[in-house]
Amino acid sequence: MNIILLGAPGSGKGTQAALLSEKFNLQHVSTGELCRKEVSKGTSLGMQLADIMKAGQLIPDALIMDILKQHIVETSKTSSGFIFDGFPRTVNQAKDLDHLLVDLKLSVTHVILINVDKDYIVSRLSARQSCAQCGHVYNDKTNPTKVSGVCDKCGSTKFIHRQDDNEEIILKRLDVYSTLTAPLIPYYQAMGKLHQIDGNTNVETVSMRIENLLNADKLNAKSVLL
Ligand code: AMP
Repeated sequence: MNIILLGAPGSGKGTQAALLSEKFNLQHVSTGELCRKEVSKGTSLGMQLADIMKAGQLIPDALIMDILKQHIVETSKTSSGFIFDGFPRTVNQAKDLDHLLVDLKLSVTHVILINVDKDYIVSRLSARQSCAQCGHVYNDKTNPTKVSGVCDKCGSTKFIHRQDDNEEIILKRLDVYSTLTAPLIPYYQAMGKLHQIDGNTNVETVSMRIENLLNADKLNAKSVLL
């Protein structure tokens, strides 16, 4: 399976991708995370990326494809499938991804759109934080740590709030999503690959909805073969 998670910033793609990656043994590919890693290295590419990200804009397609390609080609030999989170974000990126996967004798199997209302997104993103040590993402409102202030995964007590998770930049990112990323919805619909999930609820319910959808699809595929 090679899955794309689509949805506005704050729709829960990162959290759901991490869960799916564990349950279905898929390689989680977050282009945002790849960019943040490059920024933390302090390279000149990293500084260029940081300026664009801070402004809530998209990294140019050619640049993000270079970053992604390097990562995918390295990991495709050992991985049993990918879950893409935050990629593609433009129709051009989607076309480039199709070509890249063909070269690797792979294809996109499912595109899952997580629909979340705009009001919910702004309050959700403002409450988002991640563990400074292992990067696990939490949300004070929808997905808190089990023990207040302590990471469930690694026990660290240091947390980071993303620079681009402030109201002004969130609104900018939502605007960019509507203009440049939402056209992916009809693009994948036309290919018959799009599935939609209501994401206006807690992490566990959304996760169960996605899992049910993927399991039902597996059963359908089996019955077609029989
Ligand atoms: P994310 O972690 O997915 O919310 O991404 C954070 C930021 O990284 C975005 O606001 C963009 O500036 C940049 N970014 C991540 N993925 C992409 C992509 N596929 N295309 C262009 N820019 C991206």
